[in-house]
Amino acid sequence: MGTLHLLGTGAALSDSARTTTMLALEGRASLYLVDCGGDAAQRALASGLDLTRVEGLIVTHEHADHVGGFPLLMERLWLAGQTEPFPVYGNASALKQVERLDAAFDTSNWPDYPSLDLREVGAEERALVLQDDDLTVYASHGTHAVPCIGLRVERRGGGVVAYSGDTAPSAAIVRLAESADVLVHEATGDGPGHSSAAGAARVAREAGVGRLVLVHLGPQPDGGEALLAEARAVFPATELGHDGARYEF
Ligand SMILES: [Zn+2]
Ligand SMILES: [Zn+2]
Repeated sequence: MGTLHLLGTGAALSDSARTTTMLALEGRASLYLVDCGGDAAQRALASGLDLTRVEGLIVTHEHADHVGGFPLLMERLWLAGQTEPFPVYGNASALKQVERLDAAFDTSNWPDYPSLDLREVGAEERALVLQDDDLTVYASHGTHAVPCIGLRVERRGGGVVAYSGDTAPSAAIVRLAESADVLVHEATGDGPGHSSAAGAARVAREAGVGRLVLVHLGPQPDGGEALLAEARAVFPATELGHDGARYEF
């Protein structure tokens, strides 16, 4: 059984119900985090996940609301007992940001503090990010202010989930998400490098996914009802993402 956890579902500015958008990908034995703009370790604990099981981090891009919590995440993983080199997957600019954030703190006297094992994701479509006994993760770049990857996660003998990353509606993300059981897509709103709820719904329809979950949400004074109605007019099987929600695949 695979589980996609929504650790956070907010945009850079959201409301009290949402922290920044972060995910966890849980396979039979494996566990990876996706992005760490907020306190990813605390959100993982809130979702019942064991920090000693985290085998790596995928960073979608260099923006603060996706990677700004990196030093705190590493400190918490180390305190939880992680000492082995820690894999971080991302495109070149995201990994450079990770290196800068790591260098901002002097951890040289912290015994057995894990070194970083940076693994660059290629720029081609459906680039292989990682593969283990259970999960295979691919990435394609969407359309954002800086290079940003979306993800496709396939479970051996099981289902498929996809995540848009930060992006305007993108043909590359449509292809990446093709026939996924669940597509987690950003719905920040119309604007350069972002998607409206209707835009996300069109991507879901074109990709032929089973369900659409909207994330990277700003403040929702009406509880998100208008956003949901806008998306459901295009793609009925849409729901709002909530911090702590989980989807089996
Ligand atoms: Zn961004
Ligand atoms: Zn963002």
